[in-house]
Amino acid sequence: MGSKKKKSAKGSRDLADFIAPYRIDDPASFHLNRHDCAAKGGLDKDKAKDIIEANRERLSDLQERLYAEDRWSVLVIFQGLDAAGKDSAIEHVMHGVNPQGCDVHSFKVPTSHELDHDFMWRALTRLPERGRIGIFNRSYYEELLVVRVHPDVLAKERIPKPLVTRHIWKERFEDINNIEKYLARNGTLILKFFLHTSKEEQRQRFLERLEQPAKRWKFSMGDIAERALWDKYQAAYQDMIRHTSTPHARWHVVPADHKWMARVVIGSAIVDAIERIDPQYPKPGRAQLAEFKRVQQALESESPKATGKEKARLRRIAQSGTDRADETDRSEAAAAAASEPAGGNGQNS
Ligand code: AMP
Ligand code: MG
Repeated sequence: MGSKKKKSAKGSRDLADFIAPYRIDDPASFHLNRHDCAAKGGLDKDKAKDIIEANRERLSDLQERLYAEDRWSVLVIFQGLDAAGKDSAIEHVMHGVNPQGCDVHSFKVPTSHELDHDFMWRALTRLPERGRIGIFNRSYYEELLVVRVHPDVLAKERIPKPLVTRHIWKERFEDINNIEKYLARNGTLILKFFLHTSKEEQRQRFLERLEQPAKRWKFSMGDIAERALWDKYQAAYQDMIRHTSTPHARWHVVPADHKWMARVVIGSAIVDAIERIDPQYPKPGRAQLAEFKRVQQALESESPKATGKEKARLRRIAQSGTDRADETDRSEAAAAAASEPAGGNGQNS
């Protein structure tokens, strides 16, 4: 136990440089424009590759333990403007984890059925179960972004008119913070990443999408309309992060102009957070161990290599239960010793 604690503390320390500068621990003084989209954190692509690979291995082991322990769940939220690299970040960070313990949900324009409910409804039904990692590609945070930037989108939500006041965004900050606190108190670890890209980088990526036939499908004319609202989105992100980076659900503003840097930060933050909860494989109790031993011996007795005498002995042990079997073994050994001639070593019997 002590060594495990030490290991996780070490784990946290060795990744701190890739997490702390980007995690918003002091939201009151947060200014988005003070965060450099092209930061490299003193790394280059090659060094980053090693860190990404090491994190991948750590995450694979952590996810297995998380799944086996079956107590905590992990919710990872990705937000970012078009072409910020959300899809590829998800693909890379999750590469190597067991898909059985992981769910990815992409949140698009709400359907009419979803619009018949409160805004959190569709997200709440997709939260990860205990033991699982749930990834949200966009999320309920769009309710403070696209919905804030486009008043007609808010109108489509059909919220009763007296409830739509100038306080609505403040109320949504509050509601989201409360829901996340509730989830955290129930064992959901929440990590939030804003992939922060520059306007120039978005221009380059849009051009790439238009030029390369295999990427063209990713481009939509709507992306250009949203790009025209760049400053409004930056302001909405600024306000959102300032009001919703809480101790139980921190935002990370990830420098995402270099995709490798984004992968370093995201992978490190996820590994570090799960190492802190330090999930453990469940330990069987005494009774269960005894049961396992009995079953193991029963299986061994089926081995074609076992002699008739051995098979009979193992069957007897399996039927009588381990403790009593041990007793039988001991009393048989004592009886054999008692029947041996004095000075004999029993090896000839
Ligand atoms: P993409 O992620 O490029 O597939 O696009 C999904 C689109 O759905 C984006 O334009 C989002 O702004 C939009 N979207 C996601 N959530 C909401 C929401 N709650 N209300 C309105 N639009 C949304
Ligand atoms: Mg898009």
